[in-house]
Amino acid sequence: MSRKSIVIIGAGIAGLAAGSYARMNGYDSVIFEMHDKPGGVCTSWKRKGYTIDGCIHHLAGSGPKSEVHQVWRELGAADPQDFVFYDEIVQVEADGLALTVHSDIDRLERHMKEIAPEDADTIDEYVAAARAFTRIDLLAFPLLSPWEVARKALPVLPLMGKYGKLTLEKFAEKFKNPFLRKAFPTVQYDFPNIPMMVHLNFLAGSHNRTLGWPKGGSLAFARAVENRYRGLGGRIEYNSRVSKILVEGDRAVGVRLADGTEHRADIVISAADGRSTIFDMLSGEYADDRIRAYYKSPPDYCEMSLHVSYGVSRDMTGEPHSLTYFLKSPVRLMDREVDRLDVELFNFDPTLAPQGKTVLKVMFGSRYSFWRELARDRQRYEDEKARVADTVISLLEERFPGISAQVEMTDVATSLTTERYTGNWQGLPPWMPSGAGLTAMTQGFTRTLPGLQSFHMAGHWAEAMFGVSTAAISGRKAVQRICKEDGKRFRAVED
Ligand SMILES: Cc1cc2nc3c(=O)[nH]c(=O)nc-3n(C[C@H](O)[C@H](O)[C@H](O)COP(=O)(O)OP(=O)(O)OC[C@H]3O[C@@H](n4cnc5c(N)ncnc54)[C@H](O)[C@@H]3O)c2cc1C
Repeated sequence: MSRKSIVIIGAGIAGLAAGSYARMNGYDSVIFEMHDKPGGVCTSWKRKGYTIDGCIHHLAGSGPKSEVHQVWRELGAADPQDFVFYDEIVQVEADGLALTVHSDIDRLERHMKEIAPEDADTIDEYVAAARAFTRIDLLAFPLLSPWEVARKALPVLPLMGKYGKLTLEKFAEKFKNPFLRKAFPTVQYDFPNIPMMVHLNFLAGSHNRTLGWPKGGSLAFARAVENRYRGLGGRIEYNSRVSKILVEGDRAVGVRLADGTEHRADIVISAADGRSTIFDMLSGEYADDRIRAYYKSPPDYCEMSLHVSYGVSRDMTGEPHSLTYFLKSPVRLMDREVDRLDVELFNFDPTLAPQGKTVLKVMFGSRYSFWRELARDRQRYEDEKARVADTVISLLEERFPGISAQVEMTDVATSLTTERYTGNWQGLPPWMPSGAGLTAMTQGFTRTLPGLQSFHMAGHWAEAMFGVSTAAISGRKAVQRICKEDGKRFRAVED
């Protein structure tokens, strides 16, 4: 019997991508999305005329030097004019000095040697590694076959071995210059113990102009992908939460929505949260020990889970778009001490704020249990959010005197906000399964479930690896597998 129809759960980037490739390969496709808009985590929201972006900093495949670009061409979101490429990744300021991580590696080398001529050897090592990484794009590996990954990785394998383990903190210890020792560990967001390899890939991608920012922000980007899907004849039903995946024998045969209606199809793809797909929609019946072990101990602490945003009546053109600065003295925020702020200034995209005004966002890691506990009492939760917003604006005064008086909009989003709007369990992104290395990039984690036919997963949970491009590639791969099962040649066409 030939299979014709696919039901997809979730209109995040993975679900939308799966839908587009399903249409390109002749399947009827309908997406059920619980929210009233596309994008999932890849989203933005409006407050008082300002657009707050909740997701993309760097989008893999923004430029044609990465293999991922082809996927965006297929998904109708690859017009080069629609991207901003940053000239610098971040500026770190401390003790009256500034380290600008220029995207141009030659410029970065000159700048660092001006700051610390005594560290010329270490800087040479750093920029040589970055230049080597310009020859590959790690974020494209999920798109490639294991053979292609091996071929591409081979020339940089020794560097991957070395810098895959060495953290930014450890590398920084090589610098003699005290400012570089302090500043360098913070050049890649607020991620502690991040391997050098991740940073080198970002630097190389910024240098190659393969990592960019989609103009208009994350939701505008998701809408472009949604348009492509609709243009291919795909259907989306919003405000439609799936509560059950229907199974007959060993086959998925459709879904039941929260309103009780049932929708049958030959194939089901879940591009929704992994835990709720496996343990709620499928009642845990297709979870093996490996899957159970993974979901048994989610991290409580999550980086970038608290977004504190302001709309300010201030033209901040000329300031770095990404700024980390050390505070005069550490302050207590939530349940911990912070010694610096990581500020994003959305001064590079005029569509996000009225003319002459700017959106600023400061992100922090936070514990889910901290916010969950507070949320038992709505007032305490709101009070803590207000306290955080007040503290952060007073700290922004240190760097931008007079800014508090220019605030027109304040918005605080916690991991509970992410959980509520996107269904991601505890507002979390997937974490790496223990023992998984590079293989996770090519094999994923739960692309299918043991014992269940006509069912696929797509998205960051299927891959156990986060990323907008990862999600799109995962949706593409789900349809590739389906075509293979159906004995069809997979077809992908450009917009
Ligand atoms: C703060 C932050 C910054 C990030 N920055 C970057 C970045 O710079 N670059 C990058 O590449 N990636 C970034 N990411 C990661 C990236 O956004 C995600 O990994 C990716 O968007 C995940 O897409 P997805 O489609 O797999 O899942 P999701 O976006 O989670 O989509 C799942 C969809 O399913 C829907 N859904 C869930 N349950 C149901 C249900 N029962 N019924 C119906 N619908 C349901 C949800 O509403 C949602 O729309 C960032 C993430 C965060 C949180």
